[in-house]
Amino acid sequence: MRDCAHGSELVWTGAIEEVARLAEAREDGPDANADAELDVLRRLGLLAAPIAPEGRGYRYTFPAERALPALAGLGGADLSVGRLFEGHINVLQLVALFGTEAQQARVRGAVEGGALLGVWGADGSPPFTVENVGDDRLRLGGAKRFASGLGAVSLALVPYSDAENRLCLLLLGVDDIARMEPESWRMRGMRASRSGTFRFEGIEISTDCVVGQPNDYRREPFFMGGIWRCAAVQLGAIERLVSGFVKELHALNRLDHPLQSARVGEAILAARDARLQVEAAVQAVEGGADADLAASLAVFSRLRVESAGLVVIQLVERGLGLAAFAEAHPLARPIRDLSTYLRQANPDAVLLEHARRLAARLPEIFR
Ligand SMILES: Cc1cc2nc3c(=O)[nH]c(=O)nc-3n(C[C@H](O)[C@H](O)[C@H](O)COP(=O)(O)OP(=O)(O)OC[C@H]3O[C@@H](n4cnc5c(N)ncnc54)[C@H](O)[C@@H]3O)c2cc1C
Repeated sequence: MRDCAHGSELVWTGAIEEVARLAEAREDGPDANADAELDVLRRLGLLAAPIAPEGRGYRYTFPAERALPALAGLGGADLSVGRLFEGHINVLQLVALFGTEAQQARVRGAVEGGALLGVWGADGSPPFTVENVGDDRLRLGGAKRFASGLGAVSLALVPYSDAENRLCLLLLGVDDIARMEPESWRMRGMRASRSGTFRFEGIEISTDCVVGQPNDYRREPFFMGGIWRCAAVQLGAIERLVSGFVKELHALNRLDHPLQSARVGEAILAARDARLQVEAAVQAVEGGADADLAASLAVFSRLRVESAGLVVIQLVERGLGLAAFAEAHPLARPIRDLSTYLRQANPDAVLLEHARRLAARLPEIFR
C-alpha cells in the first residue's frame, strides 16, 4: 500500500477515517487500548512510511506538508492514537539523526515488522538511573512514568542525565510485561494511550544501546522544536471539537441564537490562532530558520494551542450544557482526552524561558 516513501495523501485520509470509526466505537474504560487503531496504521504501512532505507539504516523522510495533516488528522480522529504516532515518529527522527547504522538497522527492522516506538522521558519513582558496571556494560535502575503505549511500544528512546548533567539517550527493548504498571494510568482522559509506569530495575545492557553523544538530544531545532508535532495532534482535536460544536448546535436548531453564534465565532478564532501558530512553527523548524528561534516559536505554538484548547473546551461545554457531559455524547471523550493531553510539562517555566529569548529577537519575528 506504500505508493510513496511517506504514505500517499489518499492512504492517510483513509487511515484517519478508519481510526476515527474504530475509536468512536471503542469502550473507554480503565483498560482501554488503541490496538485496533494502531493495526490500521500497521496494515497500511504507515508506521514505516516516514523512513526510506539507506544502506542497512534509513533516512527520516516525513516532510512537514505530509506530517502536519497526518498528525492533526490523527489527533482529530483519536488523541490517544495521535499521541502514540507522534512519539513513534520522534524516535524515527532522533535515531536517523544521532543513531549508528546498526541502531538504525535495529529500528528499521522493527518498524518494518510493524513495531511501535516511543520516547519515555518522564522519571518515575524512584527516578531512572544508569550505572556503568565496566566491560561496556550499563546497569539500569528506577522507573519512567507517563510512558505512552505500555504493551504496544516495543522499542523506546529513554533519556537520562549523566554525572555531568548531560542528557543522553538509550534505545531499549521495553516489551517485558512484568515491568509494566498500566494501573498507574488511571486518568480522566487519554485512557487508550496507556501511559503508565515501566520499571527498569536490574536490567543490564551493552553500551551499544547509547544513541549519539551526550547532549545530542538537546540539539535544536529537534528538541524543543519538535514540540510542534505534539501541538499539531492537539490542534486536530481542537478543530474536531469546533466542528462537532457547530454540528450539534445546528441539529438542536440553536446555532442562530446570537450568543451561540458568538461562542462559535470565539471557538473558530481560537482554533484558527492555534493553527496559524502551529503552521508558523512548522515553517520555522522544518524550513531551516535559526534553530534556537525555531525552537522558541515551536514552544510558543504549544502554549497557544494549550490556551486555545482550554477556551474551546469551555465554549463547547457552556454552549451544549449538560448534554456534553453524558458519557455517550460524541464530544464527551474528545473533551476528556484533550483536557488531559493539554497538560504538558511545566508551562509556566516554558513561557518565562522563551518569553525572555523571543523578547531579545523581536525584529526577527515582527517582520
Ligand atoms: C496523555 C499523555 C501522554 C504522555 N506520554 C508521555 C510519554 O510517552 N513520555 C514521556 O516522557 N512523558 C509523557 N507524558 C508526560 C509529559 O511529558 C509531562 O511529563 C507531563 O504531562 C507533565 O504534566 P504535569 O501537569 O505533571 O506538569 P508539571 O510540570 O507538574 O506542571 C503542573 C503545573 O505546575 C507548574 N509547575 C511545574 N514546576 C513547578 C515548580 N517547580 N514550581 C511551581 N510550579 C511549577 C506548571 O507550570 C503547571 O502549572 C505524557 C503526558 C500525557 C498527558
